This record gives sequence, structure tokens and C-alpha cells, in this order.
Amino acid sequence: GKGSTHRELTSDGAADLIRSIDAFLLDCDGVIWKGDKLIDGVPEALRALRSMGKRLVFVTNNSTKSRRQYARKFTSLGLDVNEDEIFSSSFASAMFLKLNNFPPDKKIYVIGEEGILEELELAGFTGIGGPEDGKKTIQLKSNLLFEHDKNVGAVIVGLDQYINYYKLQYATLCIRENPGCLFIATNRDAVGHLTDLQEWPGAGCMVAAVCGAVQKEPVVVGKPSTFLMDFLLERHQIDVSKMCMVGDRLDTDILFGKNAGCRTLLVLSGVTTLSELNDSSNSICPDYYTNNFSDIVLLSRK
Ligand code: PLP
Ligand code: CA
Repeated sequence: GKGSTHRELTSDGAADLIRSIDAFLLDCDGVIWKGDKLIDGVPEALRALRSMGKRLVFVTNNSTKSRRQYARKFTSLGLDVNEDEIFSSSFASAMFLKLNNFPPDKKIYVIGEEGILEELELAGFTGIGGPEDGKKTIQLKSNLLFEHDKNVGAVIVGLDQYINYYKLQYATLCIRENPGCLFIATNRDAVGHLTDLQEWPGAGCMVAAVCGAVQKEPVVVGKPSTFLMDFLLERHQIDVSKMCMVGDRLDTDILFGKNAGCRTLLVLSGVTTLSELNDSSNSICPDYYTNNFSDIVLLSRK
């Protein structure tokens, strides 16, 4: 790409990362797993980094699960990861409300799945919509007046397999009839690996549907937002100069790291190919690229 400075990770580069980095921020899908399948070499690499005293933080834009549900997923894959090392966009949306002093007596309408509702509840908020509205239908006819709760003060939109016209009308009325209503997107990923063999429409698709109706742009709380970076830096007291973001997407992961000024490593084990990285239309360049996350450890030993 234009002004590209990225280079393939070598054994010297890997050794330098191991020497100078205290904390690795790890994207999940495409780095740790692909759907429900663990990527080769990950358990060994995580164990090696931990034994060297490196801090590990897991950052995922997939809002369908809560941190608690992710902790269970890590465990079921044989990975020893603590809940407070996990930052999901579902958790980020609840924390955004908390840090913005969202009144607990107001409600939040959710286009999304269980993960968002669970994080809202754990943070002391009342989420409505989500899975519960998945089977609702509308009969359009004259004199129909669609009712919505006037006490909704925020709308959160994330990936929703069960998005429908009912939810779109609900969210639209909340935002259009209340100028103070917050409009929050967990993330805007175009596509995601909902299954391991294919990509599927991502949260960006649901967000775009609501944007189209309300003619407003949301606040994004997942990657590449500075909100999420500032929040996790505050929680973990990490020095950005000693941090490396590892991810498989240029417009979420690598941009997230670059915005913060930390080191960045693109892995080719996910959605981005080497030719996309090198394409002249790409302006987001990581410091390094390599095939797999485990290369950091393997190459540093050579
Ligand atoms: N959103 C959805 C719905 C997904 O399925 C995925 C990946 O599977 C993502 C987002 C991206 O997740 P991550 O940030 O862990 O790569
Ligand atoms: Ca990813």
C-alpha cells in the first residue's frame, strides 16, 4: 500500500517484540480461533508468553456473547483465561453507558443477542428487545400505531441473527422521537466468521439498517474505537509503548492499535490476505505481518 512500512516478522523482529513488549492485545476470531475451532499453536504460544510474564488481553468485536460466556468458551477450548482479561464489544457497550452516567431508571433497546443483554444486566441496567423480539411481526394497516416505551434512553445495535422489521421500527422510533436518545453500535465489522467455512453479514449490516432509517451515525464502542482502548488501558494500567496489538483485520484491529500508538502485528490466519495488505488501496499498515500468532514465540527461538 501507499507509504507501507510493514515487514514480514523475522526471528530478529520476534525477539525484539518479546524483549520490548509487556502486554499483547489479542483479537480473538482469526487469531485465537476461527468460529469454534482453535487455531494451530495457540495454547502453546499463550502458555509461553505467560511464562515470560507477558500480560495478555483479549479483545473481540463479536457482541453475541458476554465476558462470562467468553470465559467459558476459552475454558472449553482448554485455554486458561480470566474474565477480567476479556474485553468484548458487548461489555464495552455496557461500560460506555456506565462511564457516561446513563441513568439506571432508563431502559436500553437492543438489536442484538444475549451477550449485550447479559452485560447490561450485570452493569445494573435494563435492556429490552433482543432475542425476545425475534419472533415479533407487524401487520401493516391503516390506523396502526406502533407503540414503544418512551422511557428508552439508548439504543444498542450489534450482530443480530433475528433482526426484523419490528426491531427496526422500535429502534427507529426510540431514536427519532427522542433527540436525547443515545445511538450505540457495538462494532461495524462488515462480515464475521459465524461459522468456520464462510463469512456472514456482520454487525455493520445491522448498524447500517438503523442508520438508513434514522439518518444519524452511532457511537462505536468496539474496535477501532478510542473509547475501548482508553477503557482497557485504564483498567489494566498498560504503557502503550510496551504494548502490541495482534489481529487479522486492518480496519478494526490494526487501526485500533495504530490509533493508540502501540506496535501492531497482522496475522494472515484470519480474513486478510497478503495481497489485500499489499494492495495500493490499503492505507492501514501494521508494523509486522506473519502467518500465525504463535510465530512470535516460534520465530524468537530461532
Ligand atoms: N462479529 C461477529 C458477529 C463475528 O462472528 C465475528 C467473528 O466471528 C466478529 C464480529 C469479529 O470478532 P473478532 O473481533 O474476535 O475478530
Ligand atoms: Ca478478528
